[in-house]
Amino acid sequence: MAYQPLHRSPSQTQVLQEVLDRATSGEMGVCVLDLDGCLFDSRHRQIHILREYASHTGDARLWAVQAQHFTNWIMPDTLRAAGVPIALAEDLQEFWFERFFDGEYVLYDHAMPGAAELVRRLHKSGCEIVYLTGRHRAMHLGTEEALRRSGFPYDVPRTRLITKPSFEQDDTQYKDHALEEISALGEVVLFMDNEPANVNLFHARHPEAMVVFVETDHSPKPIHAVASLPRIRGFLM
Ligand SMILES: [Mg+2]
Repeated sequence: MAYQPLHRSPSQTQVLQEVLDRATSGEMGVCVLDLDGCLFDSRHRQIHILREYASHTGDARLWAVQAQHFTNWIMPDTLRAAGVPIALAEDLQEFWFERFFDGEYVLYDHAMPGAAELVRRLHKSGCEIVYLTGRHRAMHLGTEEALRRSGFPYDVPRTRLITKPSFEQDDTQYKDHALEEISALGEVVLFMDNEPANVNLFHARHPEAMVVFVETDHSPKPIHAVASLPRIRGFLM
């Protein structure tokens, strides 16, 4: 299922309004927000890497790849959707890997439309904002810069970024561990994430909080988000 950054629907508006209502009703509520596939559309980082590869190799076919061609995390599927020979996926794998997890390349991501405004409203209402990402420590500085450039509250009181200590660590285990540190900040009122395993974990740990499943793309793990969780496909109301 592909990202829909410009999606608007009555149900999405209702979920986002509830996010604002819930986050502002508690005292010093903590909002825990994911980045890739949540506040940021990281397909643009991918497109940039493919175009760098195309420039290096002179293979212009990769310029055909557009955001809508990414429907999952499988590069051959993306290339097929763009009409590019899937054999190229193996050729570019190493080039892609060296760049996708580099802190400089996260600056090519696009903020999801409406996401920064929502987070500014949450922050303005008195919430503590925690950006909890599976990006590893080496991507921390670049991620801070990406947050600033896109207008997310950062470098101000009640904001913090938590990145993964090591690249190899499992994302969901790391987020589970980070929740202990986050819980010490105050009552956690909101979680938003695009990974089913993560939203299910948050829901189990904090059943009283609002947990929103962001339906963009996610890892190929055969896990489904708990059916009762509210869902959004973008941040526009
Ligand atoms: Mg994510």
